[in-house]
Amino acid sequence: MTDPDVPRLYSTLTRRNESLVPGPDGTIGIYVCGPTVYAPIHIGNARPFVVFMVLKRYLERRGARVRLVSNLTDVNDKIFAAAAAAGVASTEWAERMAAGYVEDTDRLGLGRPDAEPTVVASMASIIALIERLIESGAAYVADGDVYFRVRRFTRYGALSGQRIDEMHASEDTGPKEDALDFALWKARKAGEDAAWDSPWGPGRPGWHIECSAMACDQLGCDFQVHGGGIDLVFPHHENEIAQTESSGCHRMAGIWVHNEMLEFAGDKMSKSLGNVTTLREVLERWPQEVVIAFFLTSHYRSRLPFSEDRMAEAEAVCERFRNTIRSIDRAATGGSHDVALSRATRMAQGLVFAALDDDFGTPGAFAAMFDLVRELNARLAAGPVDAAQLQEVRVRLVDLLDMFGLGGLATPVDETPREVAERVAEREAARAARDFGRADVLRAEIEAMGFEVVDTAEGSSVYPRGD
Ligand SMILES: [Zn+2]
Repeated sequence: MTDPDVPRLYSTLTRRNESLVPGPDGTIGIYVCGPTVYAPIHIGNARPFVVFMVLKRYLERRGARVRLVSNLTDVNDKIFAAAAAAGVASTEWAERMAAGYVEDTDRLGLGRPDAEPTVVASMASIIALIERLIESGAAYVADGDVYFRVRRFTRYGALSGQRIDEMHASEDTGPKEDALDFALWKARKAGEDAAWDSPWGPGRPGWHIECSAMACDQLGCDFQVHGGGIDLVFPHHENEIAQTESSGCHRMAGIWVHNEMLEFAGDKMSKSLGNVTTLREVLERWPQEVVIAFFLTSHYRSRLPFSEDRMAEAEAVCERFRNTIRSIDRAATGGSHDVALSRATRMAQGLVFAALDDDFGTPGAFAAMFDLVRELNARLAAGPVDAAQLQEVRVRLVDLLDMFGLGGLATPVDETPREVAERVAEREAARAARDFGRADVLRAEIEAMGFEVVDTAEGSSVYPRGD
């Protein structure tokens, strides 16, 4: 059943759009699987961060109370390996990488999830959950490990659409009863520099059980949305469901939302970005708004090529919004109130919200904002516009951009290129030294670069010429 007045999201579990309604306490609880902190965050892992942070911002703008939880996996084989290679204790390495993840994602300017639990800080509840699963017969101890009995959970495979008797587990079963069973607790192995005490001996939790425990800790049983990358559907999310729903919770989450992956070499028509692979590197090259526009101008369930072409398109999108705000600020005012523009302004938010209500359709939302931009530009081209009306359009547009984390596009940027700024500084020094010949040469160079120097008592200012 879908209600036209509530947002809908496509659920991987039911394979259709489901209405997103708050829980009994009035809150929309969202759990998103976060990164394993063994290296700086990959640009691919920034996609779920952007998608779910903006989903939260949108739902809040729509009046909902949202609690977004995204975990950090800070105990993992990859962390042991990376820490050993760096000659650092694994716990210290994970802390360092976790701090880097927070720093890098902060630079997107989208805010933070409401809670970001870690495995180390959640160890007691992870162990308690494993104990409950052993007591109920869903799990068993074998050689210091604990395993989950997959065949005992009859709904296993529902999320990924697989039948349990068609699953192949070719690995060596080791101490397991069945090759399909997966580890909830792993006994400490030689070479691992960190381990936690448990009723089954020292060791560490398996990856899947962490999320079941942290989601339950933070959001309780049967919360509204469980999200993550599509690569996590099997086995990670299938296993989370099996664990949580074998521990006394009849349903882990209402809607299972998965974002598609970034593509790196698949799109042969686009120039590859080579070795730019971390969010940090991407943010060194492009402003945060361009990175956000790159993710949001495609639907979250589409594969998205990470390429020079796509980044250039995202740059053009940002430039278009920035230019629109600039034209409003520079427009000649005094004309009469325009009925068509007024209508477009009033409708813009409704159209953006309608697109987002339909499975978080961000491309449709951007199209709706561009409709307003087009209407405005047509009106501006026709002559002066009423000042109050222009401000109304500006407020509406900036408000919508801000919801997407693009509010910074309304702030004027320093558009002076470095080579121009350097010549301006050099010219001021030449003038101070009364070397006016040199100062004139520099002025000519600056003008040839498209800028104009204005000398005042306080020093020199530079402006783009013409425009
Ligand atoms: Zn997870």
